[in-house]
Amino acid sequence: MFTCVEAGSVDISFWPVLHFSHRMNYSRFLTTVSKNRQPSLIRDLTSLLTNASPELVFMAGGLPNPQMFPFQAASVTMKDGRALTIHPKLMTDCLQYLPTPGYPPLIKQLKALTEKIHAPPCWVDSELIVTAGSQDGLCKALEMMINQGDYLITQEPCYTGTLSILNPYQPRYLPVTADHEGMNPEALKAVLSQWQPQDVRDAEEGVPKVLYINPNACNPSGVSCTEKRRHEIYRIASDYNLVILEDDPYYFVQFGDIKDFHPSFLSMDTDGRVLRFDSFSKVLSSGLRVGFVTGPKPLIQRILLHKQVSILHAPAMSQVLVSELLHLWGEEGFFRHIRAVQDFYLKQRNAMLEAAKKHLTGLCEWAVPTGGMFLWLKVPRVPDTWDMIMERALEKNVILVPGKAFMCDPSLPCQYMRAAFSVITPEQMEKVHHRISSN
Ligand code: PMP
Repeated sequence: MFTCVEAGSVDISFWPVLHFSHRMNYSRFLTTVSKNRQPSLIRDLTSLLTNASPELVFMAGGLPNPQMFPFQAASVTMKDGRALTIHPKLMTDCLQYLPTPGYPPLIKQLKALTEKIHAPPCWVDSELIVTAGSQDGLCKALEMMINQGDYLITQEPCYTGTLSILNPYQPRYLPVTADHEGMNPEALKAVLSQWQPQDVRDAEEGVPKVLYINPNACNPSGVSCTEKRRHEIYRIASDYNLVILEDDPYYFVQFGDIKDFHPSFLSMDTDGRVLRFDSFSKVLSSGLRVGFVTGPKPLIQRILLHKQVSILHAPAMSQVLVSELLHLWGEEGFFRHIRAVQDFYLKQRNAMLEAAKKHLTGLCEWAVPTGGMFLWLKVPRVPDTWDMIMERALEKNVILVPGKAFMCDPSLPCQYMRAAFSVITPEQMEKVHHRISSN
């Protein structure tokens, strides 16, 4: 499909356990648990099966014999009537253990896609691996970098799934306000002002090292960080030597022409400090559980070692399906589909805004979502939306998420609530807004 500059997939688990880039000392970002991870010998040997000679006699792994699997072939009918056929040889790949980084043809396609869209400046020092959805990558990245009680900088409001990963580590959150233009660099500077960059840069402990951001069509606020702010945030991260976790599952669900999308942090990463999380959940299927992480090799290597002992690899059947789909569509077909997805959610958003304007004007405030599936509503007349949602709205058969769920400190009152417009009809939007307004 996409032309790829790098050949195939590389199992990076044979790299030295602590690899230091000439630019960055990645070791200071790693938790003790992550530093202690060792490659799994069997997983590494299994990776040698990729592109192996037919002469190879493989007796190292506990590979079950696919002859004993009950499945022979598969055919998936697409909405356009075409069929994705998985013939018996490919079916064997779908059903067998894969190398931990992912299904090699898919990795090749994703690298080509990433290179085309983001053209990462540190591409030769980067690696890309497939994860079981972006949540899987995010969870492992945070486990790699957050020790109990560490600092963590995040935009606020923050995706609740990230807070749920983090809360058990009892981090010292450094929330940075995000408004209709995304994370505010001035607020970021203010949060960091208790330290001098030179005191933070090389410190091993007791300083912030990680910044989490969901830059496009943010969950829950629906808005994107402006290009100017991205450059400022990157510069501050560079000054303070922070790793940026760029969680971007709504990248392809932004409204507008892809060529006008703001540059990703990965695309401006000259230092090798960005880990980017992509997902096919919003555009192909959330149930397939296919996402991918791209970033500096030494950090990806640590995530890989975690994968080697947890899920081993993202589901093979899902990876083969996505790969075959991308192959069938080609680049043009993929982007045609993306445009259809954008158009769909744009119509949903517009219907949602119309209903909100009609029923909630004067009661709620909101910023127009630039993509994604959420409207983030502020209710100025109530100090906190919790009771309004958990009691009164529920009684009226409306379920929304109280804003507290997206705050680092949920004990504080919050005037916001999140409404998803992805699966409800315009008629339901009308009804719901009417019910909220009479609450
Ligand atoms: N990050 C954000 C901001 C999300 O909204 C979601 C999905 N709710 C995820 C990550 C996880 O997505 P995936 O299905 O790829 O694991």
